Amino acid sequence: MSAAKTVLRLDGVARTYGAGGTVLSILRDADLTVHSGEMVALVAPSGAGKSTLLHLAGLLERPDGGEVHVDGQPANRLDDATRTRLRRLRIGFVYQYHHLLGEFSAVENLMIPQMIRGLSREMSRRRAAELLDFVALGDRADHRPAELSGGEQQRVAIARAVANRPGLLLADEPTGNLDPKTSDMVFSMLENLVRQSGLAALIATHNHDLAARMDRCVTIEAGVIADLKP
Ligand code: ADP
Repeated sequence: MSAAKTVLRLDGVARTYGAGGTVLSILRDADLTVHSGEMVALVAPSGAGKSTLLHLAGLLERPDGGEVHVDGQPANRLDDATRTRLRRLRIGFVYQYHHLLGEFSAVENLMIPQMIRGLSREMSRRRAAELLDFVALGDRADHRPAELSGGEQQRVAIARAVANRPGLLLADEPTGNLDPKTSDMVFSMLENLVRQSGLAALIATHNHDLAARMDRCVTIEAGVIADLKP
């Protein structure tokens, strides 16, 4: 196996919201490193800044201070088009809600991001089918999201997030809408995908059992990132 690479590095990241009288300093001096093949759980109370951290790591927002490195590239100074390209090629997102395209089938939902990236229809379909098999939904390829259960929708969303072979997977409460048994099963599929592909994954969760299955747990405390013993 090749040596683990640093895929995500946050270096003294600061993020403040608000103007005038009330200024919320959500992140003050946040440092975090996530390597390839590593799953890191982000566990913190609501409002602590988990989504803010994921948005900064995913290059959806810029920090007010510090630097976000993705694949060793300092991303703050990149222009918007280059950041968007880096995000599309290298980062996969999974949210609490699946955000699949309702008028397209499961297989099409996985093909579309690949075709946007420039892959042929045939190549995209082949990878989409493999990924649907991986999440045990090969027989549901032609079903639309509304014809799938919550857990199945979320498995398609996870497969879609890795369709373009990103180096980094960011997930915000990926099993937050599911019952405990389904949550466990969906998380196992996510875990298998990450382990098999060598992705670096940062996963916000309220579920301590799932957090304990990851390699490391971190939290946000007074604007900095601290290790959390599960
Ligand atoms: P979490 O994901 O841990 O629940 P968030 O990152 O969503 O926390 O939010 C952290 C804090 O920042 C909250 O107090 C929230 O109200 C505030 N916040 C988030 N986004 C904005 C924004 N765009 N403008 C102002 N305040 C925001």
